[in-house]
Amino acid sequence: MKTNLLGYPRIGEKRELKKASEAFWAGKISEKELFDMANTIRIHNWNLQKEAGIDLLPSNDFSFYDQVLDFSFSVDAIPSRFTPINQLSDMELYFTLARGYQKNDIDITAVEMTKWFDTNYHYLVPEFTKNQSFSLRYNKALAEYKFAKANGFETKPVLLGLVTYLLLGKEKEEGFHRIELVENLLPVYKQIVQSLVDAGAKTIQIDEPYLVLDLSDKEKEAYNQVYSSLKQAFPITEFILTTYFGALENNIDLALNLPLDILHIDLVRAENQLDEVLTKLPKGKKLSLGIVDGRNVWINDFEKSVALIKKAQKVLGNDQVLIASSCSLLHSPCNLERENNEKVLTPEIKQWLAFAKQKLSEITTLKALASNSLTDAGRQAVIQNKIANDNRKTSKLIHDEVVKARVNAITEKDAHRKSKFAERQTIQQNVLKLPLFPTTTIGSFPQTQEVRGWRANFNKGILPLEEYETLLKKEIEESIRFQEDAGIDVLVHGEFERNDMVEYFGEQLKGYTFTKFGWVQSYGSRCVKPPIIYGDVSRPNAMTVRWSKFAQSLTSLPVKGMLTGPVTILQWSFVRDDQPRSVTCMQIALAIRDEVVDLEKADIKIIQIDEPAVREGLPLRRKDWQAYYYWAIRAFRISASGVENSTQIHTHMCYSEFNDMIEAIADMDADVITIECSRSQMELLDVFANFKYPNEIGPGVYDIHSPRVPSVEEMSFLMEKAINVIPKRNLWINPDCGLKTRHWKETKKALVAMVKTAKDLRKKYNA
Ligand code: GLN
Ligand code: ZN
Repeated sequence: MKTNLLGYPRIGEKRELKKASEAFWAGKISEKELFDMANTIRIHNWNLQKEAGIDLLPSNDFSFYDQVLDFSFSVDAIPSRFTPINQLSDMELYFTLARGYQKNDIDITAVEMTKWFDTNYHYLVPEFTKNQSFSLRYNKALAEYKFAKANGFETKPVLLGLVTYLLLGKEKEEGFHRIELVENLLPVYKQIVQSLVDAGAKTIQIDEPYLVLDLSDKEKEAYNQVYSSLKQAFPITEFILTTYFGALENNIDLALNLPLDILHIDLVRAENQLDEVLTKLPKGKKLSLGIVDGRNVWINDFEKSVALIKKAQKVLGNDQVLIASSCSLLHSPCNLERENNEKVLTPEIKQWLAFAKQKLSEITTLKALASNSLTDAGRQAVIQNKIANDNRKTSKLIHDEVVKARVNAITEKDAHRKSKFAERQTIQQNVLKLPLFPTTTIGSFPQTQEVRGWRANFNKGILPLEEYETLLKKEIEESIRFQEDAGIDVLVHGEFERNDMVEYFGEQLKGYTFTKFGWVQSYGSRCVKPPIIYGDVSRPNAMTVRWSKFAQSLTSLPVKGMLTGPVTILQWSFVRDDQPRSVTCMQIALAIRDEVVDLEKADIKIIQIDEPAVREGLPLRRKDWQAYYYWAIRAFRISASGVENSTQIHTHMCYSEFNDMIEAIADMDADVITIECSRSQMELLDVFANFKYPNEIGPGVYDIHSPRVPSVEEMSFLMEKAINVIPKRNLWINPDCGLKTRHWKETKKALVAMVKTAKDLRKKYNA
């Protein structure tokens, strides 16, 4: 039995790679210094893996930015718009693809970025043209294999699967499907494999996560073609075909019969597929059991895992089974040992957690346990694992009977407002008396250096609470006065007291904990530190009422209460794995519901519940969408439905593809939705030709990602598009998203122009 690791975090335990890359971009360190840092990280990682006893160490799992971009770069799939700058060094060109180029009148947009399957990691989308040719530009896989070898590590090179690579991309012209590029890419792919084999690689890992998605016949055919051809060319090399993030389901026969030597399956996400895989696995093929969760922070349950391993051993025999991480550990934080502040993370909770380094030991301990070769330390680890898991089942920290009972008692009525929208709309109109095309913003105002500085000093204890709050009050008051002067109709307080829209709530909810170094790569040098939901979630105290009340006390115009919705809070956290996500989401929904009700009691007339992440939780297979919508939409409705008809509930969404889920969005039944639209020139509105969105909507009229001040003309143009398909009385005017990353200077100008747009339109249509 061998242990198999699919990949390891590359950002460094202290985000060394992030810091080095950013310093390199700023011209503060040389290319060589950046490389030195990368090499240190790589060697450190292999050492950890080797010390832990991993048999198959990955190489080429490292990346300076993204593994998909690496592959595009390797095979020279570089979009032609970058030709004007091809005199740059390889390293500079590589980063330019990721980050774009603006210098000396040359303006080249970066390669588009999107989510890696259903993770929070973003990859750079390959761009393809008809009959595109490929050639080996830079053999990164070989370079990394040799580098490892030179440093004493025999590794298993990791290659992105050819079919998955093509499917991850986008056609940039009409008249072909990217899968047709198989023929052109395969020779280069073989060239890479040949070079690895020549250099001595015995085992090569090929990542094909698309095998857990819905595939067309053409795509299935491509799988057969590519891998028959590859195996034929390299009969002696051992290939591991990895699938992860889901079950093979209807692709099971396809995946099992591809002529590769080892199949890797994800048993964390899809434990149930083991039986069928074991029955159907062709003779002689080995199976890698993805059993240690690469995407979450909880310790493994050894008892349960060993049962699965034994099942596989029994059918296949010892030598045919490998024990592995479910996917690359890229999605895990690096090292739990760094968390030594007991005030941040208590010892009781800490014993339930495993980060990447700890997961390595879990993999090797499981091997020893399943093959009766535990050392003393291993035996100790097994005992500790049982203690921690048992403790987790009953810990008072986790289990709150009141919360559980409340979730069980949720009724259909809790998910509905008192009356239907049409009735609410009239009532709200009478209360709020808003003009046609009301103007508003999404919630946050610029988080200036100053504001961040106050928070940092407050957290360090340098700035006393009272002074900190005085500063915040002043900032809120200024923002309210600006909004009044600008003529905005529905105001916000500006969110100056918040660090992050999930963390701010997590810090006030029971059932949440935080780490100091639990960073995970989101894209390039950007990392996130998701809070951890370890237990039943409840809200001990009101979370936002005081600041909302304060802001409202400053003005006679309505100020929106501002909350993050249950699905987004769930989606941007590490979520406990001992109950369904839907249950955790309902608990959060009830906590938010209480907050909404408290805001209403405090005389807040409009409450916004942001759900920008609602689309991200969508399952990988279409057939599972309905079930997800059922609980996700319901959770939102539960959070929003505790109030009177007269209270106006807003929601907000952005930076996702919403066209194919517009009915589910309508089903959320928010009185008003503000939604990002301007970057796509209101493409979203296309769906309203067939689907009449029933409630009020504010399609964003300007992109907040750039300091550019939009003109009245362009915003009017976009609004006119909206007026064509949405009843005028239902339309709001607002930016695409919150303004916290902007400066005040452009923010003020843009909002003044936005109000002017609304006034012009009112003149035109009120007549
Ligand atoms: N209310 C939040 C803000 O304005 C919404 C942020 C988001 O959509 N990601 O910043
Ligand atoms: Zn947004």
